[in-house]
Amino acid sequence: MTIEDVKKHIRDVYDFPVQGIVFKDLTTAFKDAECMRFFEEEMYRLYKDKGITKVIGIESRGFIMAPILGNRLGVGFVPIRKKGKLPAETYEVSYGKEYGADVIQLHKDALVADDVVLIHDDLLATGGTMKAACDLVKLFNVKKIYVNFLVELDFLKGIEKFDKDIDVKSLIHY
Ligand code: AMP
Repeated sequence: MTIEDVKKHIRDVYDFPVQGIVFKDLTTAFKDAECMRFFEEEMYRLYKDKGITKVIGIESRGFIMAPILGNRLGVGFVPIRKKGKLPAETYEVSYGKEYGADVIQLHKDALVADDVVLIHDDLLATGGTMKAACDLVKLFNVKKIYVNFLVELDFLKGIEKFDKDIDVKSLIHY
């Protein structure tokens, strides 16, 4: 399977969730076993030698591949969730995104300074969500932050939001 094959499984939904947005719907790729295997293998190949100690997924579409990769790497999974969903004490950051604004939270005991962290989400649009996630993780003074997306919308230039010390990689570009 190639990137072009996977792209054939990603569905464009026009005007969702609001007028003017072309939503890259990955559910049509996730339901295909070969696409799922492609995502897992490509992510594993990118991160197997990086010394990752925790994989973070961003609610909710980041919760699909992050635990799969965590299992594959033999490390734990940590959720970053929308405000009000995590039960114990949290840190939080607010941010703007391609459509609307939001607050994300992370448990205060989720990470330690010795961690090497991979933060995963399904898609990079303006980068607001992932930049906020990086700001949350930086509060723990972890050793290194890697960032991964399945899909990056290059024309929105979200990549420019990240500091140079953060390693950002996407499997598929539009
Ligand atoms: P952003 O903060 O602008 O990078 O937005 C990224 C988040 O919003 C990700 O969690 C995506 O799931 C979702 N998202 C934003 N724009 C799109 C889009 N055009 N297609 C699919 N998902 C999107």
